[in-house]
Amino acid sequence: MNADFHGDILIESGRIEAVEPVLPVELDAIAVDAADKWVFPGLVDLHVHLRIPGGEDSETIETGLKAAIAGGVTTVGAMPNTDPPIDSPQRVSDLISAASRLDLARVIPVPCVTRGRAGERLVDFHKLHEAGVAAFSDDGSPVHDSGLLLQAMKTVSEFDGVIIEHPEVMELSGGSINQGVIAGKLGISGIPDCAETVDVARCLEIANSCPGHLHLTHLSVPRSIELVRSDCFQSARVTVDVTPHHLILDETAVLEHESMAKMNPPLRTCESRSRLLALVKSGMVDAIASDHAPHTMVMKRKSLKDAAFGITGLETLLPLVIEALYTESGMPLLQILSLLTKGPAQILRIPEPGLAVGDKTDIVLYNPDIEYSLCETGTFSKSKNTPFFHRKLKGRVEAVWMERLIYRDGQFA
Ligand SMILES: [Zn+2]
Repeated sequence: MNADFHGDILIESGRIEAVEPVLPVELDAIAVDAADKWVFPGLVDLHVHLRIPGGEDSETIETGLKAAIAGGVTTVGAMPNTDPPIDSPQRVSDLISAASRLDLARVIPVPCVTRGRAGERLVDFHKLHEAGVAAFSDDGSPVHDSGLLLQAMKTVSEFDGVIIEHPEVMELSGGSINQGVIAGKLGISGIPDCAETVDVARCLEIANSCPGHLHLTHLSVPRSIELVRSDCFQSARVTVDVTPHHLILDETAVLEHESMAKMNPPLRTCESRSRLLALVKSGMVDAIASDHAPHTMVMKRKSLKDAAFGITGLETLLPLVIEALYTESGMPLLQILSLLTKGPAQILRIPEPGLAVGDKTDIVLYNPDIEYSLCETGTFSKSKNTPFFHRKLKGRVEAVWMERLIYRDGQFA
């Protein structure tokens, strides 16, 4: 189906039965008027912090998955920096069962690369793979031991797995916001671009020297992506994602939103944001991921120096991505959707979402014209740490089907 297809979709028994310009109205069918709306496959967000287990004061599995559905995300990659960290088959299956009991978005756990996420001993990749996962990450930290990273990549390549790396050189970061004019003006220490790019270069050399797939997540510096795509590393199997907030905001956002705009990696310069947009537009990026990072107000209502890193992102994902890439950059809609469906699905090793006959009914009905702003009481995430409250947003998810209609106009069925 192409982006400007206009027609009818027939859903029956959880599958797409027919897609035609005009379908006859069946007597027992429930008709949904989607005129002037957009219909997408359910989105895949490969980088979400559900905070389960141990972080239930900032998000519960129910609030996290409701936030996902309200954002049009029907599959969530759940990061393992939890308490305790997700590093065993038991913890993987506990998370999958907790999610399936709720019958909301499905969860693909992304367990740790190292036991306890401590960076010292590798997890049992094969046993975890048998538990149903193929992507692994120590997100929140890099796998700083290059020997372990190399061994991890070699081992997961035995079952076509993937290592998702959070690129950061801890000895070079250590600040609170981007290193530059704003940090200087505020008199706080900054995080330089090289805290990311040096680790990207290390990872690329490792990926170049062994089989396996490395995914570099939440890249914020254009040079990181330029390195990945340079001729030197063409044989390495490396993919990358960026976040919506790095496509929409720059470092000046901390002047207005203070700690609500504090995240890791930090918002970069205005010029970096423009170059990042151009790189996404030219097809150099494989996926967009929200890096949804809920935190309680106790953790966020602090000075820029002391507040926790991270912002919520599931419920603003689509309008922000469409604003940055479609409205501002003129990128074709299908190419944008691919970054939120096909790209992340390939990285998580799950079937690509689609709207063809026989596909599962993960369907999102999106109103592209509605203008509104979100406030603290109007979102499903338990945490309210976002710089996007009270900002004009255009476009909103109106309904979501996952075998049945589960969400419509802000209500869950
Ligand atoms: Zn991270």
